[in-house]
Amino acid sequence: MKTINILDVAIHDLSMSELLDNLNRLGGFVVTPNVDHLMKLRKDAELQEAYRQSDYRVCDSKIVQYASQFLGTPLIEKISGSDLFPAFYEYNKNNPNIKIFLLGAAEGIAQQAQHKINQKMGRNIIVDCYSPPFGFEKDDQECQKILKKIHNSGATVLAVGLGAPKQEKWISQHKNQLPNVKIFLAIGATIDFEAGYKPRSPKWMSEAGLEWLHRLLSEPQRLWKRYLIESTPFFWLIFQQKLASTSNKYLKGIQESFNPKSVEPQND
Ligand code: UDP
Repeated sequence: MKTINILDVAIHDLSMSELLDNLNRLGGFVVTPNVDHLMKLRKDAELQEAYRQSDYRVCDSKIVQYASQFLGTPLIEKISGSDLFPAFYEYNKNNPNIKIFLLGAAEGIAQQAQHKINQKMGRNIIVDCYSPPFGFEKDDQECQKILKKIHNSGATVLAVGLGAPKQEKWISQHKNQLPNVKIFLAIGATIDFEAGYKPRSPKWMSEAGLEWLHRLLSEPQRLWKRYLIESTPFFWLIFQQKLASTSNKYLKGIQESFNPKSVEPQND
């Protein structure tokens, strides 16, 4: 699978249909890098480990896709978690092997999402769900209880909406204890969107690279720091990556002009 390097993260250059097809054939763990993830990855070793364990790293954000174009290595498609998840259950509407467990969101919200999706799909494709209490990830007993619940549900797919980096870390730390689960999806706020609890940004805004603005305006107190402070160095870092690759190309060009490959050794 081809990857594109953005700030030292190898992002898979896949289309949605390739990803859906690969997931059904091979299974795997999907993470969806966006600006927030790429910035967190620079200082969070546990998140780096979770990313190392992932099988698919697909571009969640139009801004990251624009950055790939600016770097001269364009990613073919933006596949955000909130688009991937509905596409995944629609794709598997009639596939009896796909049974999904939803983990995350506030109490009652995952149940609403389960109900809505199952009604839309005409079968119980979401077999069970659980909204864990605050701080659950540090409580081993609670984590064991969750693993048992997922196992007992018969799920073959685990969709986790705990926000980054919690969801990626939880999956990477527990996926080996869930042998029946073949597909792991880290999907952020998607459960809230599916339940109709939070509004997703209009499609035109997502396509214009403005989904962050919509989210910022709908939850300013929680998200201002993420979008206005923590994410801003991203643009400078991308500019630095561009400068480095341009100067590397330039140096390579000079080296080649001193050592032209076309000059064959002479046989006198
Ligand atoms: N969340 C949760 N438990 C936690 C922390 C967060 O269930 O301990 C849920 C929260 O209710 C919301 C989602 O995680 O549904 C937050 O996702 P966020 O907006 O951070 O995700 P993004 O889509 O931006 O990655």
